[in-house]
Amino acid sequence: MAGARAVRVTSGGDPAGDLYERIGDFLRDQRLSPDPANYAFAHHLFTTPGGPLARAVHALTDGGVRLTQRDIETLGCELRSADQEAPAKQAQGLVAQTQMHVEGFADIVTAMRAETAGFGRDLAASAAAMRSAGASDTNSTTIEEVARITGSMLERVRSAESQLESATREATELREKLEEARDNARRDPLTDLPNRRAFEEAFAAQMGKGEVCVAVCDVDFFKSVNDRFGHAVGDRVLKAIGEALTQACAGHLVARYGGEEFAVLFTGCDLGKAQATLDAARASVAIKRYRLRESDAPLGEITFSAGLTDLREDERYQTAFHRADRLLYAAKTAGRNCLHVG
Ligand code: GH3
Ligand code: MG
Ligand code: MG
Repeated sequence: MAGARAVRVTSGGDPAGDLYERIGDFLRDQRLSPDPANYAFAHHLFTTPGGPLARAVHALTDGGVRLTQRDIETLGCELRSADQEAPAKQAQGLVAQTQMHVEGFADIVTAMRAETAGFGRDLAASAAAMRSAGASDTNSTTIEEVARITGSMLERVRSAESQLESATREATELREKLEEARDNARRDPLTDLPNRRAFEEAFAAQMGKGEVCVAVCDVDFFKSVNDRFGHAVGDRVLKAIGEALTQACAGHLVARYGGEEFAVLFTGCDLGKAQATLDAARASVAIKRYRLRESDAPLGEITFSAGLTDLREDERYQTAFHRADRLLYAAKTAGRNCLHVG
């Protein structure tokens, strides 16, 4: 079957043609469109037959179950094609580089300011000394001239100092903007929650650090909210659900994973505790009577379903996330407004 073929080692006289055929067979068997993302997924599968992805696909397809497009997305989340990843990585590198430049620049400016301040002090002292010496000198006009030149040099030093001061201020502002831009790249602008990227980074960072559970939550029949009340109202509902989840799951990471989906990373918490917390969140959303701000008209029941699981030993976080996603699907099939835990 297709899953078993996924882990077969390439052999024969024409490896390139063989690989191409296997990828084609796989996509056909799994009824997946031959788009670049699916092709890249299959290519990775066949070129690293013993790898974790191949094992995960094998486990999933072993009972004759077909992979869905969704499976490809969740399993392949760290396999996004190089084309898609490259600009993000490049941008990250640039930010880091710019930050280094800015920090170096700020240091230089600070050192220059210290030097010019010392220089200014010395000049002021020698101008004063010349003036007092000038009183007893017969050629006092020459001394006055030297003092005038020194005074104008002092003026120039002061102006350079103020320019350096504003450059330091600009460097600090630039650094703050860079930090803000970095934060924005990890935040969802609608709900102000961490986004999928921030969630995946946080999840990966939790590997091997004790008990971790993950939940995928999806708003039920959300399309109908948009259809009946419009996209703007739908957006407000998403914000309200994000807030309710954040409040109910305080101390854990709640992210907007995409569209009408939220993900929760429970840390330092076993499956039982995570289940109780998430079910309380589900109940708190389901019990609310949402109304249109403008007319007070009721929006009807708003609920979400969720899949919840814990991260097992030596497991990739993507595998746990995928299991939670499958459990979410089971919760939807079971009638929605419920959790499935496994
Ligand atoms: P199910 O219970 O099976 O999850 O049904 P559903 O209607 O929630 O699922 P479906 O996937 O059919 O529709 C999801 C909808 O979510 C469609 C899409 O327009 C809407 N959506 C996704 N992102 C946003 C958003 O940012 N704002 C709004 N207003 N709607 C969004
Ligand atoms: Mg959805
Ligand atoms: Mg939905």
